[in-house]
Amino acid sequence: MSNRIELKARAKINLSLDVTGKRPDGYHDLRMLMQTVELHDLVRVEASNGGIEVTCDSSWVPSGPENIAYKAAALIIEKYGLDCGVRIGITKRIPVAAGLAGGSSDCAAVIKAMNSLFSLKLNAAEMMALGKNIGADVPYCINGGTMLAEGIGDILTRLEPLEGVDLVLVKPRIGVATSWVYNNLRLEKIVRRPDTELLLTALKEKRIDLLARNMVNVLETVTQEKYSVIRDIKEKLVELGALGSMMSGSGPTVFGIFEDQASAKKALSVLKNSPWECIQTKTICEER
Ligand code: ATP
Repeated sequence: MSNRIELKARAKINLSLDVTGKRPDGYHDLRMLMQTVELHDLVRVEASNGGIEVTCDSSWVPSGPENIAYKAAALIIEKYGLDCGVRIGITKRIPVAAGLAGGSSDCAAVIKAMNSLFSLKLNAAEMMALGKNIGADVPYCINGGTMLAEGIGDILTRLEPLEGVDLVLVKPRIGVATSWVYNNLRLEKIVRRPDTELLLTALKEKRIDLLARNMVNVLETVTQEKYSVIRDIKEKLVELGALGSMMSGSGPTVFGIFEDQASAKKALSVLKNSPWECIQTKTICEER
């Protein structure tokens, strides 16, 4: 048995995001389409004699107990009574506090790596249940792919995989806290909601154009209102040939869907002169 595992922790985008209500516990009920992309962090996990150590090469991400990967390791060590520790190393490539679920994905990678390293024999449902204790997006990140996520994001239905769709991600140089966005969301102010049924049909029939033109994220009503740069980026992406553009999650990352790799590359070459962080990637649905 190897005592060191390295996994790719992939980012996600939302192809749509609807908030259908507020729950008595303060959480919101969501209905969203989630999609994994190729962009990933690298997460290395190895057994140690004791304690939990987390290091990350990004100055935007805390090392040690504040890192959410640490919480995953602590939970597993306690729950399964492991008499050893782990060393976790994260190479950060996913923009931080960006709406791309970077932290949740690192967390899911630690759960999967420890499941193998310590032969815990947990199935996907058990790993997802563990992950839910740490964050609402963690269960999705365990398997990833193309999914409908409901409830607080943890009730997942696997959809027809959307493989190899070309994307450009654009992140303005601001970080947005998910909690701030939800705290400022006024449900009564939302006028445009995604037609999720239409989007499900578009996904099923692989009508990328129909999908791209009908993506809606109701959280834009909060983030875009404060940061008008989000609207500027959405418009710029369409001007540069995107079939559609939208903010992912609570933002501020905006993505554009392109017809092919060449048109995405062309848009990226123009965007390189902007003050924004721009990344070309594509959708991916590998079994993880
Ligand atoms: P989501 O889309 O799930 O809301 P996000 O992409 O908006 O997530 P993250 O990149 O996960 O946000 O980071 C949110 C905050 O969590 C950051 O401010 C960061 O400092 C902290 N954090 C803790 N651990 C990590 C980690 N492993 N990776 C990224 N951020 C982390």
